[in-house]
Amino acid sequence: MAETYDLVIIGGGAAGFTAGIYAARDRCRALLLERVAAGGQVLNCEHIENYPGFPDGVAGYTLGPLLQQQAMKLGLGVGLTDVDAVRLEGEVKVLQTGNGEVRAHALIIATGSSFTQLGVPGEETFLGRGVSHCAACDGAMFMEQPVAVIGGGDAALDEALYLTQYASQVTIVHRRDTLRACRLLARTRAGE
Ligand SMILES: Cc1cc2nc3c(=O)[nH]c(=O)nc-3n(C[C@H](O)[C@H](O)[C@H](O)COP(=O)(O)OP(=O)(O)OC[C@H]3O[C@@H](n4cnc5c(N)ncnc54)[C@H](O)[C@@H]3O)c2cc1C
Repeated sequence: MAETYDLVIIGGGAAGFTAGIYAARDRCRALLLERVAAGGQVLNCEHIENYPGFPDGVAGYTLGPLLQQQAMKLGLGVGLTDVDAVRLEGEVKVLQTGNGEVRAHALIIATGSSFTQLGVPGEETFLGRGVSHCAACDGAMFMEQPVAVIGGGDAALDEALYLTQYASQVTIVHRRDTLRACRLLARTRAGE
C-alpha cells in the first residue's frame, strides 16, 4: 500500500503554501497537490503591493514560483495533479487524483475561490470571445477597444487599471454609490 502522509494540502495558492511551510517546518510528511501551477490566483495579479517582505511590490508570476521554492526547500512535497474526490477509510483520508490514490492522516483544503458569475444572458456563450475573468490573461485581446469591468472591489479596480494600457476606454460598472475597493486603488481610478 502507498505511503500515508501525515498531511495532504489541496491547492497551491498562498494559503496552501503557507500551510505547507508550517507543516514542513514541523517535520510533517506533507504533500501539496495543485492542479494548474504554483501560485493560484496570485498568478493573475500583475503587481502585488501588500505582500510583506516586498517593499517594491512583486509580480504574481514571480511570487507564485517563490512560494513553491521556499516550501520545497523546507521539505514539502509538491505534486501537479487534480484532486477529483476524497473518501474516508476509517480515519485515513483517501484522495483520488489524476495520478492515482494518495492517503493522508490529515487534509487541508485550500482550493481558493471561483469567479463570480453575473448570470446575465450571453455570459457563458461569449466567455473567451469578449467576456473574460482575467485581465492579465486576455487584456491584450482588447487593444484599442472599449471595455467594461463589472465590480467596485479591489480585484475589479486592479483589473481595470491593468486594462487601461490596452483598451481605448475602461468603464467601471458597480452597484453602490461608492467604490468598495481600498482607497489607494479607488483614488488611482479617480486620478487623485
Ligand atoms: C486580478 C486579481 C488581483 C489581485 N490582487 C491582489 C493584491 O494586490 N493583493 C492581495 O492581497 N490579493 C490580491 N488578490 C487576491 C489574492 O490573489 C487571493 O486572495 C489569494 O491568491 C487567494 O489565495 P488562496 O491560496 O486562498 O487561493 P487560490 O490562489 O485560489 O489557490 C487555490 C488553488 O487551488 C487549486 N485547486 C482548486 N481545486 C483543486 C483541486 N481539486 N485539485 C488540485 N488543486 C486545486 C487551484 O488551481 C489554485 O491554484 C487578487 C486577485 C485577483 C484575481
